[in-house]
Amino acid sequence: MTARAEHRFLTDFLTDSATGLVVPARQCPSPNQDARPPGCAPELIVIHGISLPPGEFGGPHIEDFFSNRLAADTHPYFAQIAGMEVSAHALIRRDGALVQFVPFGRRAWHAGASSWCGRERCNDFSVGIELEGADDVAYAECQYEVLAALIRSLRRAYPSLAGADILGHADIAPARKTDPGEAFDWRRLDALLGGDIS
Ligand SMILES: [Zn+2]
Repeated sequence: MTARAEHRFLTDFLTDSATGLVVPARQCPSPNQDARPPGCAPELIVIHGISLPPGEFGGPHIEDFFSNRLAADTHPYFAQIAGMEVSAHALIRRDGALVQFVPFGRRAWHAGASSWCGRERCNDFSVGIELEGADDVAYAECQYEVLAALIRSLRRAYPSLAGADILGHADIAPARKTDPGEAFDWRRLDALLGGDIS
């Protein structure tokens, strides 16, 4: 049996609250981050879906986008977004590979104008996790398993996330955003977390 046929994804992660880094993950540091406001701990987990170009999976474009290296002239859609300075804390690719862009203790720029329970600027107090995907394409089973494992490690590292809400980007920015879309199976994630989604 070849290594490819035996491809595995990881479901046991360790997040260090001192560094804000999770292992094992590929680190791809984004310049689009800053400190959380004083007194702001992560209290909310926001799930996103992203693919670049939209609906196409694989390739370096998401990492390039979050690193301000997306070449505007390589795709018509990229010309629209290339100047945006955005990021997320982490990305889970279709094969379950985990990429980290921003330490969890710092502020990633993923939510934009947003609101949760009457609080604006959700970036201040949330963790943003991207799944490589599209609103109307089923996410991969391994993505749910890696997502659940990552959330478990975050909850161990950050007591403020222990009972935290897990929401979609569309839930906190409903006028602007639809991700992670109807394809995202909230019941599957809930089952993997032991029925623990608030
Ligand atoms: Zn989003």
